[in-house]
Amino acid sequence: LGSSLRGTLDKLRGKSRLSEEDIEEIVKEIQRSLLSADVDVSLVMELSDNIKERALEEEPPAGTPARDFVLRIVYEELVDLIGDSTELPLEEQTILLAGLQGSGKTTSAAKMAWWFSTKGLRPAVIQTDTFRPGAYDQAEEMAERAEVDFYGDPDSEDPVEIAREGLEETSDADVHIVDTAGRHALEDDLIAEIEEIEDVVDPDTSLLVLDAAIGQGAKDQAQQFDESIGIDGVVITKLDGTAKGGGALTAVDQTDSSIAFLGTGEEVQDVERFEPDGFISRLLGMGDLSQLAERVERAMEQTDMEEEDWDPEDMLQGQFTLNDMQKQMEAMNNMGPLDQVMDMIPGIGGGIKDQLPEDAMDVTQERMQTFTVIMDSMTEAEKEYPKAIGASQIQRIARGSGTEEEQVRELLQQYKMMERTMKQFQGMGSEQEMQRMMQ
Ligand code: GDP
Ligand code: MG
Repeated sequence: LGSSLRGTLDKLRGKSRLSEEDIEEIVKEIQRSLLSADVDVSLVMELSDNIKERALEEEPPAGTPARDFVLRIVYEELVDLIGDSTELPLEEQTILLAGLQGSGKTTSAAKMAWWFSTKGLRPAVIQTDTFRPGAYDQAEEMAERAEVDFYGDPDSEDPVEIAREGLEETSDADVHIVDTAGRHALEDDLIAEIEEIEDVVDPDTSLLVLDAAIGQGAKDQAQQFDESIGIDGVVITKLDGTAKGGGALTAVDQTDSSIAFLGTGEEVQDVERFEPDGFISRLLGMGDLSQLAERVERAMEQTDMEEEDWDPEDMLQGQFTLNDMQKQMEAMNNMGPLDQVMDMIPGIGGGIKDQLPEDAMDVTQERMQTFTVIMDSMTEAEKEYPKAIGASQIQRIARGSGTEEEQVRELLQQYKMMERTMKQFQGMGSEQEMQRMMQ
């Protein structure tokens, strides 16, 4: 499914402006990707409305392909929804885990304990599951593997009492992770039990543990657990499988919380602190969106400062000057080397890069800087009408800028090439035709 989003985006290659239909099509593909990643339907609708509205209203900065711009909007809206990882200070604290049976609580308790131990803290796992046969043994073994303190009582049938005793018995530890029992479905006795445990434990943070494959059921669970104990964050488990964990978004939205950890395997070390970037890329089945978004952002900051009176469309109407060329190259450079930018755009292979004129790829930072230095030694008239620059001027400019005459000629060569390209576009008339040519 990520590939059809890619396909749609590929069709927009080279466009500097998107039509309403383009945006509709992108939004539809994004909806499809998110739905197949188990994101809640109403959430998908809300997200896509926001994306559509922004894509229609906001103007891509000069030099930014429309596709990059719309991807940035998608990325931002998702980051906005998901937020940063749940705050977990590296200090003394108590964490309570909640969730249905099999969601991965016991495994996550040991994983998180292991994670805190790598941060130099002394964690303890307290196992209060008296419901599931073998729960004690499993938790003990996992705590052993994580090499962390452990408390449980295989003979007790009172989870609340175990929790109370567990906190006392593990008082040497500084991070207490309280594992609880789950049920196959949400049941009143489960809720009642965890409420009592919460009372006794008084956790700093309560985390809801969700299987990445949870899907549309996430909403009810999140709501119920949030109402009973208050959910501060979500742990998504089994992300090493095919599920993309979109249900976590629903839970995060429902509880107004964030994601704390990701579980990526059965071993205690298979745990990661949540990072929005990788998660979003995975959700959409796309390449490295965050890097792309950053570059577009940088380009925007730059053009915000300098653009004001510069519009690529003016360039198509009037004279193409050296000033125009400099601005255009700057816009491109703010995105980073062109070939790298293209590598980051999902779905673009070597093919399109080969179609570009070699020189278009060659606007390096270094070359740009030399051009800027050279242009500083030109008069305004020379920049506005470079054709009037002759041999004696080239000599003067090279001397004034401390460059070689050859470099000045190179700049003028580049200018001629770009001017010719612009002329072709002017001749073509309609913008649509031009866009077709650029694809
Ligand atoms: P609990 O009932 O909520 O305590 O869930 P468990 O911690 O017992 O996990 C249920 C099953 O899922 C176990 O077989 C775990 O090994 C497995 N599991 C938990 N987390 C992960 C994970 O991140 N990846 C994989 N592949 N399996 C996991
Ligand atoms: Mg368990």
